[in-house]
Formats: sequence, C-alpha cells, structure tokens
Amino acid sequence: MTAAPPPPLGLLAELTHRCPLRCPYCSNPTELSRASAELDAATWGRVFREAAALGVLQLHLSGGEPAARRDLPEIVAHAAAAGLYSNLITSGVLLDAERLSTLTKAGLDHVQLSVQDAEETSADRIGGMRGGHARKLRFAEHVHAAGLPLTLNAVVHRQNLDRLPDLIELALTLGAARLEIAHVQYYGWALRNRDALLPSRVQLDAATQTVTAARAAHQGRLVIDYVVPDYHAKRPKACMGGWGRSFIAVSPAGRALPCHAAGSLPGFDFPDVRNASLAEIWNHSEAFQRFRGTGWMPEPCRGCDRREQDWGGCRCQAFALTGDAASTDPACALSPHHHLLDLAVQEAAVAGTDFIYREMKRPSIAEA
Ligand code: SF4
Ligand code: SF4
Repeated sequence: MTAAPPPPLGLLAELTHRCPLRCPYCSNPTELSRASAELDAATWGRVFREAAALGVLQLHLSGGEPAARRDLPEIVAHAAAAGLYSNLITSGVLLDAERLSTLTKAGLDHVQLSVQDAEETSADRIGGMRGGHARKLRFAEHVHAAGLPLTLNAVVHRQNLDRLPDLIELALTLGAARLEIAHVQYYGWALRNRDALLPSRVQLDAATQTVTAARAAHQGRLVIDYVVPDYHAKRPKACMGGWGRSFIAVSPAGRALPCHAAGSLPGFDFPDVRNASLAEIWNHSEAFQRFRGTGWMPEPCRGCDRREQDWGGCRCQAFALTGDAASTDPACALSPHHHLLDLAVQEAAVAGTDFIYREMKRPSIAEA
C-alpha cells in the first residue's frame, strides 16, 4: 500500500466558464460548461469545508469570470467560514465598487486582476471586448480604495510582449503589490492560436532583461513573478508542482482535476465532487494517482536526476504535442519530440496576427 500523499496547498474553484471576454489564449477547455451544469453555492461550501479539513490553505476563485455568478458573495462567505484564504481571480469588468464592497464584507482576502495589455486599443482587441480595459482600471481603483491586496496578472505573448515595460509601469500605477507575468501555455484555445501568439527569441531575451532591471529598480515595492516560456526552454517546469502533488482544481460542473487543463486528456474518469469527498479524491482516485510521483515515467525521465524536480513536465503539453499524455514533456531538450517546439517557433515567425476567439454566450454587464 502506498503512503498517503501530503495534503494539497491550494484549491482552484472554477465557478463558471461564462466570461464577457474572449481571450484567444483562455485556459478554459474548448468545450465550455453551460451555466445549467454549474455547482450551486451550497455544494461549493461543502467542498471548501472538505478542502480545509484536508489541509488546503489557499482558495483561488476563478472561471471564466467568477463575478458572472450572482451568488459570488455567498460563495466567498462559505470560503471565509471554512477558514480558507480567498483569492478572487477576475477580469474585473463585471465588478463595481458596490459589488466589491459586498464581497469584502463576505470575507474576500485578495484580488488578482488580469490585464490583456498596457495599451487600451490592443488590450480591448486581445480580450475581445470594447471598453474592457477602461473598466479594469476603474475596478483596480476600487480594490485599492477597499484596502484589499492586489496582484496584477499579465498574460504575455508575441502581440504584447514588447510593451512589458508599460505593463510593469501599470502595475506600479495601480498600486499592485505583485505582478505575475505569465507566458501563454499552449493547449486548448491557446494551441489553436499558437501561430499568432508565440514570441520570438529576440522578444523573449529583451523581456528577460526588462524583468531583471525592474526587479532591482522596484525591490520592496513590487514583487515580479516571471518564468521563461516552455517553447524557448531547455527543461520543462514542474507543472502544477507535479501531478497530484500540491493542487486540486474543480471544474464548474464539479469534476476534480490535478490541473485546470487536464479535463481534455482522454482516457480519464475524473472524479465528481458531488459523488466523492475531496479526501477520497486526493488520496485514492485513480486519476490523481496516474501521474503522481515517478513510477509512471518513461525514459529519458525514468533515469534522469531531475525527475523529482520537474516531475517530467506538463502532461497536457505532452498530450497536445505528441498525442501521448505519458510521454516526456517536449519542452525538455532530452525529449525525442523537442524539435516540434523549434518548428512551431519557426512557423509562428512568418504567421499572421489574427485570432480565433473563444466563443460562448457571454454574460452581459447588466445580467451579472
Ligand atoms: S478573462 Fe480571458 S482568459 Fe480569463 S476566463 Fe475570460 S476569456 Fe478566459
Ligand atoms: S528527462 Fe524528464 S525528468 Fe529529466 S529534465 Fe527532461 S523532463 Fe525532466
């Protein structure tokens, strides 16, 4: 019998796939859940209590756009009652000062606001919503006025990476304590748009220099998180800290996943939180154990001295590029498929800039 794994650190609650934006790199699956399939607030409350009992400390309320749910204050109150530190990951476009005040009173601890660019026209084009950027800036002011800690999240790619200095300036202007610069991960919608999004090596090197200089210049005022993107790396990242090692995601319809993107992997029967407790899922489900640890690894991972550092990389990326979720992540230069990444970078260098936007009936500002 294998020993029980250490408890997860974080729970990602994807409350809905509905979102007024249409980002072409959205991490939601290409098959989006309908509103009628979403877990209700009481069930989320039970899941939060189970998470706290399991040892989870941090709860990330995400989507889609979590504020598309009118019962968001009730959900936040459940999180506070369970003793979880709640972080709202939002596009900000559906939240005014009044709605934010309701969430603060319900016990919200932290806000993570996404921006698509520092320049308004480009930001609105990337997000697929005219006026979206201006609404985000107003929302950031409300967060500041409410005294909530703010993290700015900027997803970067070929079409906004050259404005990284402006994004850093924006984070400072908005009073963010942290800036997460996240390169696009290429699966789902982003894989469909890869040719329009992949940055060049020259762009990437300039961005790395910008981050190094900004970290030194703004030390003590702004923390900057930044990781080199997989397509220009020689070794993969420990995706989600390793499969089933530190993280649980729950989809809007209640499927428990080791990573928010794992739902699109074939051959899995991911457990449903309506039928099983989080403890049963974490400790005993086949889906969470399939790629946990090192026993599943093929060569070259099996004999590699980095196998307990990166855990073989990202299973979703391995599947997206090789058709086999159990293969070594092609981001690793030791993978027999690593050349596919170089090829993709070459193809993107001569590709156009048009996007395929994610499509779903969108919640209107008035509706939310
Ligand atoms: S803001 Fe963009 S990335 Fe986030 S859920 Fe909406 S469409 Fe997806
Ligand atoms: S061979 Fe596997 S374990 Fe070794 S660096 Fe590459 S992905 Fe990581």
